[in-house]
Amino acid sequence: MTTIRLAHLYPEYLNIYADRGNIAVLTRRAELRGHSLAIEAVSVGDALRPGEHDLVYIGGGQDREQTLVAPDLAAKSDALHEIAAGGAALLAVCGGYQLLGRGYRGRDGSEMLGVGLFPHETVAGERRLIGDVLLDCELEPGLRRTVAGFENHAGRTKLDAGAEPLGRVIAGFGNDGESGFEGCRVGRALGTYLHGPLLPRNPWLADLLLSFAIAHASGSEPMPLEPLPDRLEAVAHDVAAARARSRGGRF
Ligand code: GLN
Repeated sequence: MTTIRLAHLYPEYLNIYADRGNIAVLTRRAELRGHSLAIEAVSVGDALRPGEHDLVYIGGGQDREQTLVAPDLAAKSDALHEIAAGGAALLAVCGGYQLLGRGYRGRDGSEMLGVGLFPHETVAGERRLIGDVLLDCELEPGLRRTVAGFENHAGRTKLDAGAEPLGRVIAGFGNDGESGFEGCRVGRALGTYLHGPLLPRNPWLADLLLSFAIAHASGSEPMPLEPLPDRLEAVAHDVAAARARSRGGRF
């Protein structure tokens, strides 16, 4: 029985597309295994202290909200680097994913300095990249799994050469609509454009994050969690995957 300490960054600013649903999934799946989540909202002006969290979550937002939080997030940059280097898990979605890179230039030209945790840069394009997405991921050696989700972003994110994406795009746009990459991974930190929300349709990803967080909390190596039936989750995944495939397989 582990208490997983989760920091939810800027919940009142970055919360579009039901990002809170991701936290509900993490909470429930932890509880079903006898663990619990202690959720702390960390917002503008609040201290983020390394060593106090096992999992960090930052959601999506529109350019306006991103502009409001970006200076505060940049001020938390050292703490976030220390938290990630210490082996805590992190999930960043869409607007949060953009700001955890080196920076984001929004649609109106405003430059937002990022945290530099993910090796990428983002610039908003004219056309929004919207629709269902299907990814091919290999986050554990030899274990290939799909992620189904929904994207809606103006930002084009360019990964540095050699950076590890979260997955390869089977259908949809992904980071920039041309590289075939989606998201980014640095150790136990995962970033993605996919929301909708993401974790209800991809429970294996929720469990991977929980296993990273439990390992951090207990000072052990990540262990697979006891499987759950996940019948409804599989249907939700398959419906979204079929919708994404019907877009015509961009890559
Ligand atoms: N404002 C950002 C963009 O349009 C992020 C959008 C989002 O979080 N959905 O690219």
